[in-house]
Amino acid sequence: MDSNADISARRVLGMDWLWMVCLFHLVASLEEILLDTTGETSEIGWTSHPPDGWEEVSVRDDKERQIRTFQVCNMDEPGQNNWLRTHFIERRGAHRVHVRIHFSVRDCASMRTVASTCKETFTLYYHQSDVDIASQELPEWHEGPWTKVDTIAADESFSQVDRTGKVVRMNVKVRSFGPLTKHGFYLAFQDSGACMSLVAVQVFFYKCPAVVRGFASFPETFAGGERTSLVESPGTCVANAEEASTTGSSGVRLHCNGEGEWMVATGRCSCKAGYQSVGSEQACQACPIGSFKASVGDDPCLPCPAHSHAPLPGSTECVCQNHYYRSASDNSDAPCTGIPSAPRDLSYEIVGSTVLLTWRLPKDLGGRKDVFFNVICKECPARSAGTCVRCGDNVQFEPRQVGLTESRVQVSNLLARVQYTFEIQAVNLVTELSSEAPQYATINVSTSQSVPSTIPMMHQVSRAASSITLSWPQPDQPNGVILDYQLRYFDKAEDEDNSFTLTSETNMATVLNLSPGRIYVFQVRARTAVGYGPYSGKMYFQTLMGGEHSEMAQDRLPLIVGSALGGLAFLVIAAIAILAIIFKSKRRETPYTDRLQQYISARGLGVKYYIDPSTYEDPNEAIREFAKEIDVSFIKIEEVIGSGEFGEVCFGRLKHPGKREYTVAIKTLKSGYTDEQRREFLSEASIMGQFEHPNVIHLEGVVTKSRPVMIITEFMENGSLDSFLRQKEGQFSVLQLVGMLRGIAAGMRYLSDMNYVHRDLAARNILVNSNLVCKVSDFGLSRFLEDDASNPTYTGALDTWQFSQLVTGTVIDIL
Ligand code: AMP
Repeated sequence: MDSNADISARRVLGMDWLWMVCLFHLVASLEEILLDTTGETSEIGWTSHPPDGWEEVSVRDDKERQIRTFQVCNMDEPGQNNWLRTHFIERRGAHRVHVRIHFSVRDCASMRTVASTCKETFTLYYHQSDVDIASQELPEWHEGPWTKVDTIAADESFSQVDRTGKVVRMNVKVRSFGPLTKHGFYLAFQDSGACMSLVAVQVFFYKCPAVVRGFASFPETFAGGERTSLVESPGTCVANAEEASTTGSSGVRLHCNGEGEWMVATGRCSCKAGYQSVGSEQACQACPIGSFKASVGDDPCLPCPAHSHAPLPGSTECVCQNHYYRSASDNSDAPCTGIPSAPRDLSYEIVGSTVLLTWRLPKDLGGRKDVFFNVICKECPARSAGTCVRCGDNVQFEPRQVGLTESRVQVSNLLARVQYTFEIQAVNLVTELSSEAPQYATINVSTSQSVPSTIPMMHQVSRAASSITLSWPQPDQPNGVILDYQLRYFDKAEDEDNSFTLTSETNMATVLNLSPGRIYVFQVRARTAVGYGPYSGKMYFQTLMGGEHSEMAQDRLPLIVGSALGGLAFLVIAAIAILAIIFKSKRRETPYTDRLQQYISARGLGVKYYIDPSTYEDPNEAIREFAKEIDVSFIKIEEVIGSGEFGEVCFGRLKHPGKREYTVAIKTLKSGYTDEQRREFLSEASIMGQFEHPNVIHLEGVVTKSRPVMIITEFMENGSLDSFLRQKEGQFSVLQLVGMLRGIAAGMRYLSDMNYVHRDLAARNILVNSNLVCKVSDFGLSRFLEDDASNPTYTGALDTWQFSQLVTGTVIDIL
């Protein structure tokens, strides 16, 4: 039966087919093999029917390895029906089975001797069975018990071999069938007259391998029974991952297709909070120390935000460090923040009974954007005795008292002449979480330093039928440089709303265009840079009847209760007061006498006395008691304006923190001084510091803790009276001169009341300010007033009493 061609056919089995099979194996890695004759060297032992049909033979491949094949080549007789049946093949769970057949077929045309029944095809069958029941007869050898899979034709048939005996005409065909339901099956190859060789048969099925995808693990899954079937496989989230249902469908699934490929994923898992992905969605790893992940998802762990830390791995949030917090509205991944520092540069402005407080944002906002301010208002006793109390409900805050977002607040309805302390607290949304008290800036504001105080009285200087000239003293507390005065007046018989005003830069004014013989109501108030002070009480003055001669003040007293007295009146007032006290007069008191009483008691009739600093054992103690130490950094020296006994006198500016700047005179103690000189220099301040009167030069303080030692006083723009009068000779009216004299008299009277003798009163020791207000200065040569009349006095100098007399006389002479 072996022809040359057959021999050739057998010889071709040593070609490169084995390589091809191996390659196929590599690629088809998802195949589960049920049967494989490749490389079989011992007898395979399949059943052939009839026995002279298929024949199992051993051949050598090109590498001289022996292999087992099945061949058939019965072409001489027609009606061939040769069957070859495999052993029972267990299904092992496969639903659909694939058969890969390696075979070669002789080309019918090349075999001239062969009948026309020559075939180049064969047919593949299968038969399912739960047990291995096959025998030589069963299943019967025809279609019926067997299910046909396909008739398989060779793509490549061969006709001859090359010189080395090889041909390259190997066919590889794959056929599949299913679904399989029984425990196992047989395959059968039916030959109908071909000359062919079955080189290798592989039976396998596809499966999808166990995989981890999208943080879910899927078990190995066998492909379905149909070519197009998709087998659903539920997944399980890997450790530290959880289902992230984005589609609304529950469950994580993959589908295994007919060729063992995973496809169509539904749902997925994601790493839990505190865990992040490693590999490509394969596993979830705890966030390292110092990092966190707040929620389930694919985001990586992030480093802890500012002022927070994560001391353990796998943190879902970072905890705040000490003194740092998250507010209720902060996200858990937000940085931790602290309370703000105190507001900066708190300052104020006073207008009337209203204080405007302004400040700058705190330097440290605690790492937050939100910052609010609360205002705490306290009323404090004038001296340090006693504690401060919260301001009353009538105090108003604009725009509000707490939760201010702006750096300013207007506080109104404050009481006059009261020391207030304002605290501006800076708070933010974590302040209430903090055990620390809010930081605040504080400022003291004294409403008494606000506007000038009320002018106590007015004097009629002269009057005519259509005019009245009035003068008035400077307010007791000017609280700054008086810029001008405003006089308000109206006809007493008319409505107050029809009043007129007149502004005067001096403390005297003539009101014109009045009607004869009418009573007018007058009020006056002073203005400083801070604003107007309150109006004085109402005073009534009457114009002359038509035809009367104009008259000066000393001729007649003012008509009604509100009349004022000149400097002369001081003595009269004192006398009246003393008499009133002694005789306890029962006469009806007018508002005017009331005012006199107050004036006298305020002056104290010598209640408070001057103390000679030389009586102190330690002169420095006197300085500490009577003079305020000023920080030298608050002082700006601008120019030298004169020279005194101990050194230069300069013009400069003084600015206490949080207060307005004002001009001052600065007396310096020249270097190289002796202790004695220093004591003497500073004794002037110890004396001056005891006085408080509008006509006595006011001491601001001293600088003793740095060099040069300084005495700071209010600045008097027009310098000393003697040079001022010389410069302006002939330029002053009599009334202005009288006003100045009256001021000096008031100052001297005050000093006298304090038991102080000046002993060097002279025009050169009187200083004049821009409002022509004269003030007594130069206390360097002071002496205690003793009863002993032998106490030496300066030749040519006047004592206080004498001066009062002199002024009185002068006024009378002038008028
Ligand atoms: P004294 O040492 O007080 O005699 O001052 C010398 C000079 O400095 C005076 O004659 C004034 O011209 C001037 N002077 C002193 N104190 C003041 C002051 N408070 N305001 C303006 N000038 C002053």
